[in-house]
Amino acid sequence: MPSYSAPVDDTLFLLNDVLGYEQYSDLPGFADACPDLLEAILREGAKFSEEIAQPINQSGDLEGCSRSDDGVVTPPKGFKEAYAAFCEGGWGTLSADPDYGGQGLPHTLATVFNEFLSSANMAFAMYPGLTAGAVAALSLHATDEIKQKYLPNMIAGTWTGTMNLTEPHCGTDLGLIRTKASPQEDGSYKISGTKIFISAGDHEMSDNIIHLVLARIEGAPEGTKGISLFVVPKKMVADDGTIGDLNGVSCGSLEHKMGIHANATCVMNYDESVGWLVGEENKGLRAMFTMMNEARLGVAVQGLAQSEVAYQNAVVYAKDRLQGRSLTGPKAPEKAADPIIVHPDVRRTLMHIRSFNEAARALVLWTALQGDVSHRSPDEKARTKADDMMGLMTPVLKGVLTDTGFANTVNAQQMFGGHGYIAEWGMEQFVRDARIAMIYEGANGIQALDLVGRKLPANGGRAVMGFFEEVGAFIKDNAEDEAMKPYIAPLKAGLDDLQKATMWFMNNAMAKPDNAGAGSVDYMHLFGLVGLGYMWAKIAKTVNAKLESGSDSKEDWLKAKLTFASFFMERTMPETSAHLARISSGADTLMSLDADAF
Ligand SMILES: Cc1cc2nc3c(=O)[nH]c(=O)nc-3n(C[C@H](O)[C@H](O)[C@H](O)COP(=O)(O)OP(=O)(O)OC[C@H]3O[C@@H](n4cnc5c(N)ncnc54)[C@H](O)[C@@H]3O)c2cc1C
Repeated sequence: MPSYSAPVDDTLFLLNDVLGYEQYSDLPGFADACPDLLEAILREGAKFSEEIAQPINQSGDLEGCSRSDDGVVTPPKGFKEAYAAFCEGGWGTLSADPDYGGQGLPHTLATVFNEFLSSANMAFAMYPGLTAGAVAALSLHATDEIKQKYLPNMIAGTWTGTMNLTEPHCGTDLGLIRTKASPQEDGSYKISGTKIFISAGDHEMSDNIIHLVLARIEGAPEGTKGISLFVVPKKMVADDGTIGDLNGVSCGSLEHKMGIHANATCVMNYDESVGWLVGEENKGLRAMFTMMNEARLGVAVQGLAQSEVAYQNAVVYAKDRLQGRSLTGPKAPEKAADPIIVHPDVRRTLMHIRSFNEAARALVLWTALQGDVSHRSPDEKARTKADDMMGLMTPVLKGVLTDTGFANTVNAQQMFGGHGYIAEWGMEQFVRDARIAMIYEGANGIQALDLVGRKLPANGGRAVMGFFEEVGAFIKDNAEDEAMKPYIAPLKAGLDDLQKATMWFMNNAMAKPDNAGAGSVDYMHLFGLVGLGYMWAKIAKTVNAKLESGSDSKEDWLKAKLTFASFFMERTMPETSAHLARISSGADTLMSLDADAF
């Protein structure tokens, strides 16, 4: 049976030592999460993830959700109890608004907890994850009346939330949505239509389910300009908050799918269900995007989380499994063979995953802190800069962490040889679970288009220039530091490639948009590599300073980080030049054939 131990020490090191968590102590909520409290919360979060959520991960996958003939959806054994413990522990309230029962702590903290929980049990983590996204959208766009009615229970977790975008004929292209909203005299709407693939769409874990639904008001313009957002409860809620009758919302069937079996992915039918407008008429996509940004970072974390848990189990196996002898002579002569961790190719695989995971975690935390600054800083300039970075990094993290996270689960599975393919070891579940993160919340190809088509040109390229400036300044500041040379030179080469690629788009994509589409995924990964390289360089600087001052007792632990940093710079960072070469080859060859030739 697989195991999981939450990386609390690594996370604390990144937050406190590398990213300077204390510099944010003036921001609202941060004072309430001083470093001591931060550690206490993370250790409790680790305990919940390891002891409550992880033990039902494999059984939940095997059993899956079920739907009875009368339409009742039941989660696997143990999920209802675990969810009750989640609510009891107040885990959904961490960063939520204190006006509605939240603790108002930094969102960064909730992001860390999401990583732990998703590693332990991704299907479970999705139930509160979707609720948090719905809370974010309502908080920003709903009327006070709607907020008062729904947010306290959603934040407490007694009611869960969903997002309903996808329909059978439309996923990426939401302009095609057909679900209808008919205005009623009392200001409400009757919502009718069918949504598919709705995560956590129905279940018995909460008293009510609050659906956020995209629909087209009768007579609205065609396409994305005619889509509005509605809040539609599964059961009606009276003004005093009591739950009433069913609201014509039903789960038509459960999808049979590759992974996350314990999360109920539902076909949802809305049959004249009563809903209320959230935000402005026809501006539903904008409101939904608030939720999607939150959700995208959450999905990026799922990629990292599966990569982390798969790595941890692969390491245990590689130290234990005896096969062959080391190329340089036996390392365990008393045994029949050496453990496979002595073989260079096994180490290459493990170091590749680990050197990604640590930097990816740093980049997630760096971005989450930008998110907190953008929402909480009193300084407008700081807010704008942080918002730029958050917007820029959201598609990069979603695309890169889920693409690479999935590849890493496959690589970790490979460490088990044939046993990795056998269900009881749990490795094939990580592969199956990780796969969806590349698809939902906007398929990764769409993330890349968002980066190149929207985030790059936004505000005259202000965000990307800000990123170049920050990384460039770090390189300059450390250029003369001998101990930093192994990290600074590759980072500089990566940044040069990224700047050349950006320039190439500026010169070649405006006149010929296919050039942007043809290079967008490479650009997203190139961007990700530079971001990850920047994180490793920052980690190396922190480690060097600590080793020099002799202030830390964990010398070996710190030195190992330098080795992982070197590995990343030597073996992963050079991929930037391949991405640049592909981007610069343009779209001509790619677009030259007729569809018939495929
Ligand atoms: C398990 C699961 C859970 C889900 N949960 C939810 C949920 O809770 N709520 C919800 O609303 N939806 C949910 N979804 C739906 C998911 O978000 C969509 O499947 C996803 O957005 C892609 O839409 P699609 O499947 O229609 O693919 P399509 O839009 O048909 O895309 C097919 C392929 O074409 C590519 N493509 C499409 N358009 C372009 C373009 N313009 N340029 C380049 N490439 C393009 C895409 O990248 C993709 O690879 C879930 C799906 C699954 C499988």
